This record gives sequence, structure tokens and C-alpha cells, in this order.
Amino acid sequence: MTQPARIAMLGGTFDPVHIGHLRSAVELRDSLGLDTVHMIPAPQPPLRGAPQVSPHQRLALLEAAIGDTPGLKADARELEREGPSFSVDTLRSLRQEYGDQARLVMAIGWDAFLRLAQWHKPEQLFAFAHLVVIARPGHTEEPSASLLELLGEREVDSVSRLMAVPHGRMLRVTLPTAMAISATQIRQWLSEGKSVRYLVPEAVESTILNEGLYQRW
Ligand code: ATP
Repeated sequence: MTQPARIAMLGGTFDPVHIGHLRSAVELRDSLGLDTVHMIPAPQPPLRGAPQVSPHQRLALLEAAIGDTPGLKADARELEREGPSFSVDTLRSLRQEYGDQARLVMAIGWDAFLRLAQWHKPEQLFAFAHLVVIARPGHTEEPSASLLELLGEREVDSVSRLMAVPHGRMLRVTLPTAMAISATQIRQWLSEGKSVRYLVPEAVESTILNEGLYQRW
């Protein structure tokens, strides 16, 4: 019998995409044995202010960053939808695409996880997907009581327990290369005319510089 598809969604603002996102996606693919990691830019994330660079520019940077990396996909589905982008809607659409038996994972960094209880209908996420939380350097705060309540008994301690069922479980992972890189820091440096070389792929750096993105000087 063929193994059910293993699919992950890594959503974000990607404002801009950096190697912290990209290494996380590759290492997640390898640690969980994933077929595809959908990297999905949000048009305007509900819990953040408006990004300075348009959604389509952020998508173009993401496409350039991924290039032909096997198993990684720049996915425009949230940009094609009207209204606010909620992860539960994105997971519903991935579930429809891959079917009932697929193992569907929503992957988020520890910082995003800490805010999960404030998301739109967070408990519904588990009806469509597993939650995989990636440790992120500099983010060590403990989950709130409401977050722990939301997780209930869902947490498991291995990939095989996670992948035993199509959705509904939670796993914390520490990937081999934890990187203290944030898009906030990259935007800050670009706005000050400082170099971001090696923090973003070459194709992303050259597009940013050629098009004058994030630069205020
Ligand atoms: P910002 O600094 O603008 O908030 P960011 O660098 O956190 O941006 P996002 O686009 O908000 O990037 O992140 C998308 C997802 O990737 C989130 O779940 C976030 O936790 C995760 N992530 C971002 N950077 C890293 C990193 N260096 N290591 C692991 N996960 C990361």
C-alpha cells in the first residue's frame, strides 16, 4: 500500500523571506519525510500592521528564493482569496486538494505559536491538520494557560506518532540548524543601508537592491 501524502504549510509574511525560513522548510521536509512544504505568503496578516512591500513582490521574492529546491513550493493561494487570510481557510483548501488520508501539518515558529490562542478559531486547525512547532532562538517564553488548554492532550513525542493519523496532534521540533534571523532585523538593516548578504539568497538580495525595496536612505 502506498504511504499517504505528507504535506506541510509554512505560512508567514515573508517580508522578506530569509534563510531562517528556507532552512526551516528544508529541515522540516527532511525530519518529517514530507512530500511538499507549501510556503504561503499572507496578503495582510490579521495580527500585524501592513507590510511595506506588496504581497506580489513578497511572493516574487519567495519564488526567487525557492528556485528549484525539491519539495518546496511558493504557494499564492492566500493572495488569490478575497478578504482576510485565516490559516483555517488555507488548511481547509489544502485538505480538499490532498484528500482525507493525507498527513497535513501546519508548521509555525515558537514565536507564532505563543500567539496561537488569539488566532481566528484556533481549535478548528486541528480538524484539518497537525501542528508542528519549530524552536526559534531567542524565543523561550512558556505557553500561556489558554494555549495549554487549547492543546489539551494533543501533544506527541515522535514523528511516527504524529504521522499515525491524518490530523489533530501536536509536535515540538528542534531542527538541526536553528538560526537567529528575523525579517524585522533584515528590514531594519536595509532601511539603514546595511548589508544583508548571506541572510537572504543571492537572488533575493539582488532583487531587493535593484528594486530599492525596504530602503529608506
Ligand atoms: P518578522 O520579523 O517580520 O515578524 P519573521 O522573520 O518572524 O518576520 P514571518 O514571515 O513572520 O518571519 O515568519 C513565518 C514563519 O516562520 C513563522 O511561523 C515564524 O515563526 C517562522 N520563522 C521565521 N524565522 C524563523 C527562524 N529564523 N527560525 C525558525 N522559524 C522561523
